Amino acid sequence: MPRLLLLVPTTSYRISDFLGAARRLDVEVTVGSNRRQVLEKFSPGQTVTLDFRDSEKGTKQIIDFARRYPLQAIVAVDEDTTVLAAKASEALGLPHNSPDSVVAAANKYRFRTVLAEAGLLSRGFTVVSRGDDPAEVAQRVEYPCVLKPLALSASRGVIRADDPAGFAAAFYRIGRILNDAYAGSLAGTGDYILVEDYIPGTEVALEGLLDRGQLSVLALFDKPDPLQGPFFEETIYVTPSRLPAGVQHAVTTATARAVTALGLHDGPIHAELRIDEKGPVIIELAARSIGGLCSRVLRFGVGIPLEELILRHALRLPIESLERESRPAGVMMIPIPRAGWLRQVRGLEGARSVPGIEDVTITIPLGHEVVPLPEGNKYLGFIFARERTPQKVEAALRDAHSRLEFVIDP
Ligand code: ADP
Ligand code: CA
Repeated sequence: MPRLLLLVPTTSYRISDFLGAARRLDVEVTVGSNRRQVLEKFSPGQTVTLDFRDSEKGTKQIIDFARRYPLQAIVAVDEDTTVLAAKASEALGLPHNSPDSVVAAANKYRFRTVLAEAGLLSRGFTVVSRGDDPAEVAQRVEYPCVLKPLALSASRGVIRADDPAGFAAAFYRIGRILNDAYAGSLAGTGDYILVEDYIPGTEVALEGLLDRGQLSVLALFDKPDPLQGPFFEETIYVTPSRLPAGVQHAVTTATARAVTALGLHDGPIHAELRIDEKGPVIIELAARSIGGLCSRVLRFGVGIPLEELILRHALRLPIESLERESRPAGVMMIPIPRAGWLRQVRGLEGARSVPGIEDVTITIPLGHEVVPLPEGNKYLGFIFARERTPQKVEAALRDAHSRLEFVIDP
């Protein structure tokens, strides 16, 4: 039986969805994780502990493991493991993106540089060292601008600045976040901050699958809540997009060009773009699928989940359809209203009973600390909806959210 290695950080939301998909495919699965599994010695071959911070070391560990348990595919479940998946796949001769292309996607400064060199980016950006004097740098950048870490995700540490004072405050705040953040397998990125021109406009997210460099669009999501900063909290995603067909086409074209410029050619991608008067501008292109539990709103063909598509693609198993089911769908990542300790969640039943709502899942256990952006990296939970129109999906998500009450003690 073919064996698949899933690389899953212990903080991942997605392990059970991927394991469920693997079970349906009748493949042997190994969970590679950055923390030793309690059951490791009782379940040989099913788990392996890997160094996610050092991709050279992690690759050697995977090669060792594959001698005993031959692997047919390695799948990175989250951003943090894409580089390791690419390096280990390369070493084992498995289908993969080149490590360079994945590093360029995961490092926001490299990404901007590649796009600019390919003539795909008209916006200004610059990288500053954390050792630089922010008061000096603040004098030579344009406002408004956006400061961000090079390799974090989920909008963590992404801050808009409108003037030099805001720039300095954001600079120090990001520095503190970087001091205690796990910066993934991208060594060295924690010493820099990227500064970009603020790009106005509405935002969309494109979920895609690459097969030999060919991009198939799996879903295009509108983000109906304005994201203007100073922090950029993701909330509602609704698909299909309500944008005019011509704009949607331009989004796909812009994404495909960025994919080519980076040299990505295999597996899932998740792109974010803003659309201003001049057209779509790419903000991010990640060599992984959509984060959190958001993928649960997507089903393909006869109800196949996204995780199954990804695993089928990785194992080169047949895929019947890449067509999303036609019913409009959406998800809300429930934002954290303030810092503190989560004591109680009220109104769950009312929220779940809103027409069109399929599920409300709270992902932070009671009694745990909740940290809002820009420091936080978790959502309170997720609300899922399906309805006859995208408008109704959005309305159902807002209605359900308004019925929830979070008791948070300072
Ligand atoms: P992350 O990888 O943490 O998600 P992103 O670079 O995607 O970081 O930024 C998170 C969000 O911040 C984006 O979805 C967007 O709303 C906003 N943002 C980031 N960069 C810019 C920019 N240059 N102009 C306007 N908004 C931006
Ligand atoms: Ca993003």
